[in-house]
Amino acid sequence: MTRSISILGATGSVGASTLDLIRSERETWRVVALTANCSTEELAKLAMEFEAEIAVVGDESCLGGLRDALAGSGIEAAGGAQALRDAAARPVDLTVAAIVGCAGLAPTMAAIEQGGTIALANKEALVSAGDVMTAAVARHGATLLPVDSEHNAIFQCLQGNAVEDVRWITLTASGGPFRTWTREKLDTATPGQAVAHPNWDMGAKISVDSATMMNKGLEFIEAYYLFPVGLDRLRIIVHPQSIIHSMVEYRDGSTLAQLGPSDMKVPIASCLAWPKRMDTPCEPLDLPTIGSLTFETPDETRFPATRLAREVAHAGGGAPAVLNAANEVAVASFLAGHLPFTRIAVVVEETLNRYSPSAPSGLGDVLAVDREAREQALQLMEHA
Ligand code: NDP
Repeated sequence: MTRSISILGATGSVGASTLDLIRSERETWRVVALTANCSTEELAKLAMEFEAEIAVVGDESCLGGLRDALAGSGIEAAGGAQALRDAAARPVDLTVAAIVGCAGLAPTMAAIEQGGTIALANKEALVSAGDVMTAAVARHGATLLPVDSEHNAIFQCLQGNAVEDVRWITLTASGGPFRTWTREKLDTATPGQAVAHPNWDMGAKISVDSATMMNKGLEFIEAYYLFPVGLDRLRIIVHPQSIIHSMVEYRDGSTLAQLGPSDMKVPIASCLAWPKRMDTPCEPLDLPTIGSLTFETPDETRFPATRLAREVAHAGGGAPAVLNAANEVAVASFLAGHLPFTRIAVVVEETLNRYSPSAPSGLGDVLAVDREAREQALQLMEHA
């Protein structure tokens, strides 16, 4: 049976892994919409290969380039924020939400409002919108499947069990490329070093988030919204080998863990085939070669991001959206070479101290908080 799919963020790292899997089962999938921000050549190439109905760029100024690249193909081209939302609202069996950052929120909400099934990679959208997004999922009868490897692991470990029986959900963290660095050395970390993750091949923003541990902080908040066990039953441990992707401990003392290679194709395949399974090209786990699995407590002195995320999750309201927005701005500034690595968490904390909006009640409110928090973070960086 053919299934229809749209991929928001098709030209990114998660988008590429998703399309690789679709390529391996080409006859199963009918591709409806593929989107990017401004990678017009790449998007057009993918749209033609996968015979998409429509290709969309978020940045409207790139639409001319997309049209040129698609000339003669018969594939519709569109650009701009509204076009992204319209494309995401086209009915499909599965939407892969893989835009990076809060920019993915409105299109993801458009897919949710169709009552569809959404494979959610775009954690920043859920962190920012939290209750607004989960309420929309419930209201529209949508289904969220977690793509993030940790949440996908937890999702798998929870199958067939009652949430009331959960004692702990443990998110594992690789610790990133700077896990063993001293505080002084962290001050000298460069963008090139930060994006060179030891285990995972990912986009630049999430790679920096992994290096600051903000990725785990965002995932902590993401887990809070996805799995209703309460904040006091969520914890983080560092597991440098990234083989156990997360664990659920039950009240009888049983711990279920999901293990696999550090390759996003595994959790993406789990979402594509859900509730069944599909083949992936990933090598089977070779545990004797891996040898040992080790665990550490996170060091929140060197990496304060998980503390900030925990505080923000407890505070609720608009705080998670502020944390996310400030982090996006600070990471962009670090990647551009303007902000030292250790200032990223400082900018986030100072923005949180300056701006405490009340709980957003709809998408418009979330986007307004996001805008204001970015403005505040930018001002902080200018006046530092
Ligand atoms: P990439 O940076 O590799 O790709 C981002 C995608 O989003 C690209 O298609 C990009 O288009 C598009 N995009 C960027 N900005 C905008 C915008 N303003 N409007 C519309 N589209 C935009 O990111 P990743 O694939 O690494 O990550 C995507 C999401 O998945 C993130 O939320 C990340 O946290 C999450 N995730 C990623 C994992 C990974 O292994 N990479 C693992 C788990 C979660 P263009 O090419 O034109 O810039």
